[in-house]
Amino acid sequence: MLNVALFGPPGCGKGTQAELLCQHFRLLHLSTGELLRAERREASELGRRVDAIMKEGELVPDDIVGELVRKEVRRALNENLGVLFDGYPRNLSQLEALESLLGELETEIHCYVSLEISDEKVIGRLTSRRTCSDCGKVYNLIWHKPRRDDTCDNCSGELYQRSDDRPEAIARRLEEYHGQTSPIMDELNTRSVLHHVSAERSIAEIQDDLVDILEARKATIGQG
Ligand code: AMP
Repeated sequence: MLNVALFGPPGCGKGTQAELLCQHFRLLHLSTGELLRAERREASELGRRVDAIMKEGELVPDDIVGELVRKEVRRALNENLGVLFDGYPRNLSQLEALESLLGELETEIHCYVSLEISDEKVIGRLTSRRTCSDCGKVYNLIWHKPRRDDTCDNCSGELYQRSDDRPEAIARRLEEYHGQTSPIMDELNTRSVLHHVSAERSIAEIQDDLVDILEARKATIGQG
């Protein structure tokens, strides 16, 4: 079983890469952003609580996200699946919470990878991102186009622009990433366990690098 944490600023293509890796390695795709968006779509009590926070591009409180993660990790273990963490952990206390949860369950993160891209490129990409209002599938009108601009290829749902893909919210999310998530990279660099991959390339090139990194790590699991 392989557990992976994928880091990267909003708009670096992390969700797309995560989906491909999950198919390749048969992992559960645990995207906290997607879990939270699903709660908002269903207008659950939790969804209503986090709505305004997410619209502003701010981070949802750790205990709410931690509970969603705990449930999903247990589900993966029951199904004997490794987990790809996408968008979690987002700050040092989430890193600590995740490591302690996995420790309790007698497992760990085997591979940490950071996708790297400049803020300028992020802004260009996010303003052309569209998401399906039914199934949550993500497109980009420039480099991952749906067959029709406003319709999901998967389920024919309507595509919309996320409220947190507005310029003010993008700026806020980049600020959160540099302020809150970068300290995780510093910590993992200190431990020499973080792989760095440039995300300023094609989907296929990035994916090739990621597959190589994960294959190499997978081969060492269980060899002490
Ligand atoms: P994402 O799809 O990962 O860009 O996440 C979208 C939004 O969901 C973020 O801007 C946050 O408001 C919220 N979110 C996602 N993951 C987390 C997390 N690990 N901790 C706190 N908030 C999160």
